[in-house]
Amino acid sequence: MSVDLETDLGADLEIVFNDILPRILDEFDSRGIKATFFVVSDLLKNYSKEIKEIARRGHEVASHSRTHSFLNFDNSWEEINSSRLDFLDVGIDVSGFRAPGYVTVSDHKHLAMVKRAGYSYDASFAAYLPGRYFRPLIGRRPYVAHGDELKKSESKKLIEMPMPTLIWPSGLNGLSYFKLFYPVSFWIARLFGMRYMFYLHLWEFIDVSRLKPNGIFEKLIACGCGDKAWKIFMKYLDLAEKQSVKFVSCKEYLNSKGLS
Ligand SMILES: [Zn+2]
Repeated sequence: MSVDLETDLGADLEIVFNDILPRILDEFDSRGIKATFFVVSDLLKNYSKEIKEIARRGHEVASHSRTHSFLNFDNSWEEINSSRLDFLDVGIDVSGFRAPGYVTVSDHKHLAMVKRAGYSYDASFAAYLPGRYFRPLIGRRPYVAHGDELKKSESKKLIEMPMPTLIWPSGLNGLSYFKLFYPVSFWIARLFGMRYMFYLHLWEFIDVSRLKPNGIFEKLIACGCGDKAWKIFMKYLDLAEKQSVKFVSCKEYLNSKGLS
């Protein structure tokens, strides 16, 4: 289970931290769910107490960059490396990195930077989402990232945890898409079972009238945010319980597969 904690869609951070975060932490507690929260490290400036609380409640805190700017050749290293240092400053040693919007510079260069910054896994590659990136042949399961640049750098291996977003029938692993294609998405999950990773954003539980989507893509993603998204997510979690799916953090998952 992975949760992105960021400022996308003009999310009001007071609502996110004071209302939604406590609600999701309580829900996860009551269902015995452990998750990885990919957090934008700039949020530590005003919300370090709340972010530390996530870790105190037994979840993994990982990095979702420093400012949530989409990565490019100019900002990648700064966003990847300084974010890890920001977390270390408050005593959180993060192992994982997820790029904002799943946008990265070339695969090898991105992975080499993530490794050089001291992370042990990356979760920035999405298998397929038309219009933004195209990696139809990428693995649908975590794998050891290879490549000359990676082998040359430090001895520790780097794991990639790709998100199979829209590839049938393994797609619909993000709450945004799950609610967009609901109830078809629900039938697919019921019929084919769940994939190895799910992700959501905390702003998805803010009422749509209080969001500020920018452009057609964001307007589409904002559809059904608020109570509807919460109800659909609860239905998804109920289905997971029926299918005996146990949600754990990325780190726990990699440990259990001997990939850490
Ligand atoms: Zn994000």
